[in-house]
Amino acid sequence: AAKESGKASFVRFEPRMRDEMMNHATLAGELRNGIARGELRLLYQPVFDLVTGRLHGCEALVRWQHPVRGFVSPGEFIPVAERSGLIVPLGAWVLREACEQMAQWRSQFGDGAVEAVNVNVAVRQLRSASFVDEVAAVLSDTGLTSRDVILEVTESSVVDGWQVQETLQGLHDMGVRLALDDFGTGQSSLSLLRAFPVDVLKLDKSFVDGIADGADRGRLAVAAAVAQLAEYLQLKAVAEGIENQEQLDRLRDMGYRYGQGFHMAKPLPAADCGALMAADPVNAA
Ligand code: C2E
Ligand code: MG
Ligand code: MG
Ligand code: MG
Repeated sequence: AAKESGKASFVRFEPRMRDEMMNHATLAGELRNGIARGELRLLYQPVFDLVTGRLHGCEALVRWQHPVRGFVSPGEFIPVAERSGLIVPLGAWVLREACEQMAQWRSQFGDGAVEAVNVNVAVRQLRSASFVDEVAAVLSDTGLTSRDVILEVTESSVVDGWQVQETLQGLHDMGVRLALDDFGTGQSSLSLLRAFPVDVLKLDKSFVDGIADGADRGRLAVAAAVAQLAEYLQLKAVAEGIENQEQLDRLRDMGYRYGQGFHMAKPLPAADCGALMAADPVNAA
């Protein structure tokens, strides 16, 4: 706020700030306990093939059911987990849980039912020199191969520094694919694609929002450009946050082969995702 106000370079203390600081410390402590007590769980949002309409993959999204506060959204506690460092054990739990679920789907529905499980990874996890080994251990423990998992990272975390670059290269060498999440919102989109081993571009929801009304030429242009970029670079293009049929149609026509959004499915309990896999006639064959 101090920056945005122009000339003023000082920040005035406001009671709200103290509340936010206390809230952060309290929340971090409760989150630490919550992880230990098993208050976290995963939902899975299906990724659909927009051409065939079939389920393609699933993205694991963490949820926190606090005994007193009730449901706390990841938008609230992931930033807290990132600043406190708790994201490292939390992220490790998410990865293992998602891979165990993926292994179960594989054994229930076979190889064709779901292409991969997507797992969000924070920059603090990528800064750890042991992350590549951690991923390898989870894959081997769960009996999955490196093709079964796609790790979602943001543009800003990719340009963090040499350790992250080494981690990403190590994952790539292992055969684990990387998706750039919230693509288009970062600073260095284009040069980044040459320097890092990226496999999937996930167009941020903010660009999808502007598509149907046609009023926002700028966002439309970014959406179209990202689809073209993905085609030229032979990357998978996924559109996030599709909320109506018109958006879906226009994105598919633009070249987005894959999409996620409330229009098709919200994040679901694993069993409901499994039901979608079971209902697919191709899997029953
Ligand atoms: P994300 O990875 O970009 O996930 C997409 C978010 O958009 C999810 O919110 C999802 O529920 C929401 N979404 C999907 N389709 C629609 C739609 O059609 N309309 C609207 N309005 N929203 C839609 P969620 O689950 O609240 O997660 C928010 C963010 O929290 C995620 O953004 C991700 O950055 C982070 N996050 C969630 N789980 C994890 C995790 O296990 N690890 C890490 N590091 N971050 C996570
Ligand atoms: Mg994501
Ligand atoms: Mg995203
Ligand atoms: Mg997002």
